[in-house]
Amino acid sequence: MPSSAPLKIVLISPYDLGRQPFELAHPAAWLRQAGFEVACVDLSQERLSDEALDGVGLVAVHLGMHTATRIALELVAKVRALRPQAHLCAYGLYAPMNAALLREVGFGTLLGGEVEPGLLHLARRLAEGDDGPQREPLIELSRIEHRVPDRSTLKPLSRHAALILPGGARKVVGHVQASRGCKHLCRHCPVVPVYGGRFRIAPVDVVMADIDQQIQAGAEHISFGDPDFLNGPGHALRIIRALRAAHPGMTWDAVIKIEHLLERAELLPELAASGCLFVTSAVESVDEATLLAFEKGHTGADFARASRLMREAGIALSPTFVPFTPWTTLRGYVELLEAVCALDLVEAVAPVQLCIRLLVPEGSRLLDLEGFRSLIGGFDPALLGYPWRNPEPGVDALQVEIQSLVEAMEGESRRATFEAIWARAHAALGQAAPLLAPSSAEEIPRMSEPWYCCAEPTQAQLTAL
Ligand code: SF4
Repeated sequence: MPSSAPLKIVLISPYDLGRQPFELAHPAAWLRQAGFEVACVDLSQERLSDEALDGVGLVAVHLGMHTATRIALELVAKVRALRPQAHLCAYGLYAPMNAALLREVGFGTLLGGEVEPGLLHLARRLAEGDDGPQREPLIELSRIEHRVPDRSTLKPLSRHAALILPGGARKVVGHVQASRGCKHLCRHCPVVPVYGGRFRIAPVDVVMADIDQQIQAGAEHISFGDPDFLNGPGHALRIIRALRAAHPGMTWDAVIKIEHLLERAELLPELAASGCLFVTSAVESVDEATLLAFEKGHTGADFARASRLMREAGIALSPTFVPFTPWTTLRGYVELLEAVCALDLVEAVAPVQLCIRLLVPEGSRLLDLEGFRSLIGGFDPALLGYPWRNPEPGVDALQVEIQSLVEAMEGESRRATFEAIWARAHAALGQAAPLLAPSSAEEIPRMSEPWYCCAEPTQAQLTAL
């Protein structure tokens, strides 16, 4: 136990793509092993009750994505009203990026990167009565001791995002994090301002212990939440070999960039044989100028090649896009849809991916791109980013239209939604939409909540606070 007054801590996850939050479970393990009383609140599962804040000295909110940050900003008034004496901490990728705004609304401590030592230091000093200004590093990138995440007080896996197989059968998903950060420097990516091209791995035995405990808790599929699973291919291989040895038949998915899929194409058959059902890949665009601006490290042709290799290997590719940027043209948007059709990926693209608008947060490397600042306005706290307007008439309006259409067609098939988007995009160009060729591709396995990192929170998420 801490030597002085006991300190009660609440860790809050506003939203984490519907997954059971690793970023509550891992800090919880650190803090509980140091003797602190820790409660975990996952706002995608429950409201923050008055009782949860009763007697709490530290409220730490995980900001792993834009949506979570927007929700946290709405939440802060409630926390301050119910428990004004509690110290507020925000941690995760979006905490350092939004430092000025978060401090303004009352967060006393902000932690990014490998946050656990900072959280523990903060808890210890608060327990000793030191509620002074932040002394913990804003960004910590030293190698930390990984612990087996403590998931004991999180809601059951069965209540979280599920795997949906072709035909509709659902499987319970365990969410694992084998690394944090990324060795790449894509300009638009929120990982980059914090990790700056570095990544940190968790030991195989710790990752496997987390997998084991989630399988015991009912997981029928493992989803790796690493920013890129092949940043360390040797590490990834050790994990999937251990997974296959310990749990033959268990399936999994991961996020892997196009560049890595091509560079390590020889690994694809082994990934498939070890149960990899699908790979999410941030393709972002098929427009070469946009890909260059993003420094994505791949071309449109690379995307096509990776798609072919994945199909040959028997692994579904689930591409994600940022189709609306300051450089998007109406013609270019239609070309993106044409590429999705040509690669027979209509069933593989979650409709939300076709309406995402580029978010430019504070700290984005896009701000360093020559000429980029002339395309954007001043920082907008309500947006948590820099607003921009597309110079071509009709592009911004098309984005709004496609977004409304995707929301209105929620629950319909991906193909039906794609056909509607196809028609709208051609109408915006003043053209009749050509008939779509019938697809030979089958539905692919997917999560019940699509992967993205920069959407606005829904009204339901905000009113559930
Ligand atoms: S977009 Fe993906 S590959 Fe690029 S820096 Fe971010 S996590 Fe890494």
